[in-house]
Amino acid sequence: MDKSSNRLSLPASPREFGFYVNGACIPIGSREVFSRNSPGHDVPVTRIPKCTTDDLDMAVDAARAAFDDRRWSGLNGQARAAVLLRTGALIRERSEEIAYFETLENGKPISQARAEVAGCADMFEYASGLARSLHGDSFNNLGDGMFGLVTREPVGVVGIITPWNFPFLILCERVPYILASGCTIVAKPSEVTSATTLILAQILTEAGLPDGCMNVVTGSGSTIGQALIEHPHVDMLSFTGSTAVGRRVVEAAGRTNFKKLGLELGGKNPQIVFADADLEDAADGVAFGIGFNTGQCCVSGSRLVVERSVADAFAQKIQDKFARVVVGDPLNEATQIGAITTDAQNRTIMSYIEKGKAEGAKLICGGEQMDFGRGQYISPTLFGDVTSEMAIAREEIFGPVLAIMPFDSVEEAIMIANDTEYGLAASVWTKNIDKALMVTRRVQAGRFWINTTLSGGPELPLGGFRQSGWGREAGMYGVEEYTQIKSVHIEIGKRTPWIA
Ligand code: NDP
Repeated sequence: MDKSSNRLSLPASPREFGFYVNGACIPIGSREVFSRNSPGHDVPVTRIPKCTTDDLDMAVDAARAAFDDRRWSGLNGQARAAVLLRTGALIRERSEEIAYFETLENGKPISQARAEVAGCADMFEYASGLARSLHGDSFNNLGDGMFGLVTREPVGVVGIITPWNFPFLILCERVPYILASGCTIVAKPSEVTSATTLILAQILTEAGLPDGCMNVVTGSGSTIGQALIEHPHVDMLSFTGSTAVGRRVVEAAGRTNFKKLGLELGGKNPQIVFADADLEDAADGVAFGIGFNTGQCCVSGSRLVVERSVADAFAQKIQDKFARVVVGDPLNEATQIGAITTDAQNRTIMSYIEKGKAEGAKLICGGEQMDFGRGQYISPTLFGDVTSEMAIAREEIFGPVLAIMPFDSVEEAIMIANDTEYGLAASVWTKNIDKALMVTRRVQAGRFWINTTLSGGPELPLGGFRQSGWGREAGMYGVEEYTQIKSVHIEIGKRTPWIA
């Protein structure tokens, strides 16, 4: 910590990580190295191995052996729960280290990273209970000669591919639930944000997870990611990222072993604000919904669908909020909006801002690259006069860019909200319960917020409608997702012969 300000210091030298197989860290050795620079400061912070496909095979073999010999799935729920609980406690013990590397590699504010890490410990603690309560069903109504059971069994070896926007949070929305079900794991984080996934693997071993149950391979999506989605010995794959790569995942599963898939893809999420809302609360929520994580969230509220009678006044409130939000160095405790995570994403966001202007939208505020001497930052951006065919209204920008789309009636609000290929999340702001429930029922989205946004926790499931994905993560739904259902028919007494 720099004592003269509330700012953490940069590391003196980058930290080197190995990858993780069979309960052990494997050093970089002769492999190529990916050197990651902090997006907020442009200095090297981590060195990560570029694994080979042989390394991936070794990791899948380890996960396969650990699953097939039942060293994890054969334990009772109490034993699995104990490991998950200890993991939660160890995450809390190492929370400062995890938050620091999350911030260094991703560019998110340190205060936000700390809150996310605490939420991740909570995921493990909650999922420990699910390891004990996962159960099937029975049918006692099949007559005196038959009894039926429905059992849930872990699906097997699960590959996890995570993106760079919430490297630790997205991982922890999956790993505890997958482990609660009895599966084993091979995880591939985004190459630019691998550190905290590697730390989690060490923690799981320390918490007592048997070797081979959590493996991490590092490297680029086009090499290691592609090899993982095509791997014939992986039974299920959980992918979070762009819709374009999601399509490749589906194709690869079809070409290879029809592995089961969970997909959490893009979103173009509406924030629907009615004139009868608490407009102060709504303005704060809408600003948070697009500013949080620099808008690099699949659930960012990037379309402001606002009742026309209050649209101008509401736009002014958002502008005032954007003027006061603290953008800057992610290592500073006061920062609310940090850096853009990758150069490519920075270019993508700026190109959408240019497209918005070129297509005739009115730039109300922001839209600029902010200069803090180093790193890449974009000011929170508000566009008015946005029409439904514009790119900024239709495509996922994944940045702090909010598009205003006014409406005149409830029906029109619902129509605009549903006018997208996605269906990940939506928020509605109104004090009228009838309107809130009607909109909640009719807008197609997997996550819904009423008079709030982006809240969540380990209990409620995550996932999308339409092209936002398949399946659900978290909650008991998230554990069941990683199970197969088996029907068991049990005959009672003497069989009626087929051949007399
Ligand atoms: P990607 O979909 O390319 O990356 C997500 C993950 O998939 C990363 O781990 C990446 O690895 C991996 N990956 C990339 N290519 C392949 C492949 N062929 N096979 C298997 N895995 C692969 O997203 P980008 O990072 O390129 O971001 C592009 C856009 O995607 C963003 O602008 C945003 O719109 C959207 N996005 C959505 C996210 C969400 O949460 N829904 C998260 C991230 C992005 P690596 O990074 O190492 O290449």
